[in-house]
Amino acid sequence: MEDPNYEKFQATVSEYLIRHRSILDVISKFQESAARVNRAIVKSVTSCGCVQIEASRQTIPAGVSSYGELKNFMHSHLEGQLCDSCQEFVETELGSTLFYVAAICDLLGLKMEDILQKEHARISALGVYHLS
Ligand SMILES: [Zn+2]
Repeated sequence: MEDPNYEKFQATVSEYLIRHRSILDVISKFQESAARVNRAIVKSVTSCGCVQIEASRQTIPAGVSSYGELKNFMHSHLEGQLCDSCQEFVETELGSTLFYVAAICDLLGLKMEDILQKEHARISALGVYHLS
């Protein structure tokens, strides 16, 4: 099997989309899958414990003027690392969410690959802007 890219992935999802062709089914499934991503992350904290959440207000020292520098001071509030089992759960739920993103694109005549390119260009451009 060839390595998939977004274009091939969307084509495969399109072929698979027979039972759930209604945009209403697809957007509600999309929302459900996104909630399951959150649930998988929460379970890694509350059930497994491989990851902990240590949260407090973000503080940015004075004199930080670029996004590049800011990254060094912003905390993810995560401690630890997903274990193999939790990683698999999170990946599965993210994969399912990508499936429904592809399905939404397909039903609306959008190309996931184009969206990826546009978003990549947009966030790449952000790096050159300064905060002030
Ligand atoms: Zn775990």
